[in-house]
Amino acid sequence: MSPAPDVLARLRERQAADLPVHGGRTLAYVYDSGLAEVDRVGREAVAAYAGSNGLDPTAFPSLLTMENELVGFALRLLDGPDGAVGTVTSGGTESVLLAVQAARDARPDVARPRMVLPSTAHAAFHKAAHYFGVEPVLVPVGPDFRADVAATEAALDDSTVLVVASAPSYAHGVVDPVTELAALAAARGVRCHVDACIGGWVLPWAARLGRAVPPWTFAVEGVTSVSVDLHKYGYAPKGTSLLLHRTAELRRPQFFASAAWPGYTMLNSTMQSTKSGGPLAGAWAVLQALGDAGYERLTADVLSAVDAIVAGVATVPELRVVAPPDSTLVALATDARCDAFTVCDEMAARGWYVQPQMSHAGEPPTIHLSVSAATLPHVDELLSALRASVAAAVAAGPVAVDPGVVDFIRALDPATLSDADFDGLLAASGLVGEASEGLALPERMAEVNALLDLASPPMREALLVAFLDRLSRPA
Ligand SMILES: *Cc1c(COP(=O)(O)O)cnc(C)c1O
Repeated sequence: MSPAPDVLARLRERQAADLPVHGGRTLAYVYDSGLAEVDRVGREAVAAYAGSNGLDPTAFPSLLTMENELVGFALRLLDGPDGAVGTVTSGGTESVLLAVQAARDARPDVARPRMVLPSTAHAAFHKAAHYFGVEPVLVPVGPDFRADVAATEAALDDSTVLVVASAPSYAHGVVDPVTELAALAAARGVRCHVDACIGGWVLPWAARLGRAVPPWTFAVEGVTSVSVDLHKYGYAPKGTSLLLHRTAELRRPQFFASAAWPGYTMLNSTMQSTKSGGPLAGAWAVLQALGDAGYERLTADVLSAVDAIVAGVATVPELRVVAPPDSTLVALATDARCDAFTVCDEMAARGWYVQPQMSHAGEPPTIHLSVSAATLPHVDELLSALRASVAAAVAAGPVAVDPGVVDFIRALDPATLSDADFDGLLAASGLVGEASEGLALPERMAEVNALLDLASPPMREALLVAFLDRLSRPA
């Protein structure tokens, strides 16, 4: 047996190669309260419950109590009416999957169920469509990147089982017109899910702090379910989201039981069966530690940071904010003088992670920032890095993509390609070296991103799946 200190030292050594989780300089994937004590409480709670099994709430009643307390807090926060219920899931994707699955299974009379999505809805809905055979009907958004109500109305038909709104959308950070969308759904007796995975733990305090927040909670008539992630702006350890339903009846199809085998009768509220109690305990502990007042302060901090970033970006001629942010997400676009993907690389070289977003629906590539409370003390440094990165990107000029490679890739149908074809394409794209070179990722991603951006969406998906397949192999 290796001594524990050695094992843990090796673990920390490996972790050093990952993006930092603390410090407010990683502006996607992680959400940092900047409060070391709160993080410690969350971590210790996860550790204390790492071996507990949420499979059976009667065997681990403390988990059930914590779940009901988390759901109760969320329903009070989000204007849940009497009788509203909720479930803790493993993340936003699982909450979205279950909302779609429940909407489908509540309508066994519909042979070919459809859901109407703004084109800006999270990719988790496309995953749900893929898993559950619900056809996604995509509605283009308006010039303000919010769902188009009239176009949504026109997209509804007798097979529609769900209407979706985001509060806010991940890519542009704006809240859809939930009141109007929910009313359309209610008029047809259709469910309306509000995906507040990323904004749901910010917007209520933003409203209380006097910010203009359009209505989006259960206070809006016709909203039947809401998803909100605790592992984002709940600042909880990874692995928890909430799926809330207006009534227990709406939730019922989400539950699964099976007595069709000789073992224990399986009884699940989520997609998982055996599940660690760790994330739930971690989220509960962070909620106790921060409380309502703690979240209000963190919200004030993160919104101050967003305001300062928006004001700072306005002084950089080559940059613009794509849409005035409704919460904590900022999308930046560059003008013709510099390349957005190069700016991302330059930011990385300066110790900041910002996330490239590919062009979509005729809109150019953008740079995504999920701002955290912990970023507030570093906003000036962030803006300096951004100015320097833009200057470097202007100096570097446009990204050179081999037009021959682009033409070649555009002429291909990904559905007809073999594994060997993908090996060649991955090498040509620069994403993966030749077999002998192994899978060292390029230091700079701008060329790869530019090429992926020029590929069709199905080809981009296929290339990245092939890439992940090559990455995910034992040494
Ligand atoms: C993050 C996010 C999701 C998916 O959540 P995961 O926790 O990454 O699975 C869904 N919708 C929105 C709007 C999100 O921001």
